[in-house]
Amino acid sequence: MARPPSLPFPQSLCHRCVGCRYVVSAKGSTFLMCERLPTRYLPQPVLRCPAFLAREDGR
Ligand code: SF4
Repeated sequence: MARPPSLPFPQSLCHRCVGCRYVVSAKGSTFLMCERLPTRYLPQPVLRCPAFLAREDGR
């Protein structure tokens, strides 16, 4: 899904990574899902990651 207006863990490296997807629960909570690592939901905030790949839009 598109980037939600209010991001959880704003300091997380995932927000700037091509592998990050946003999943919104039925209760409206937003979760960060990783598409580049076998573990989809890592403990947040992720501050360092060997699989990080910067988004081309620089966000
Ligand atoms: S590869 Fe690392 S930085 Fe990128 S979304 Fe996954 S956990 Fe986050």
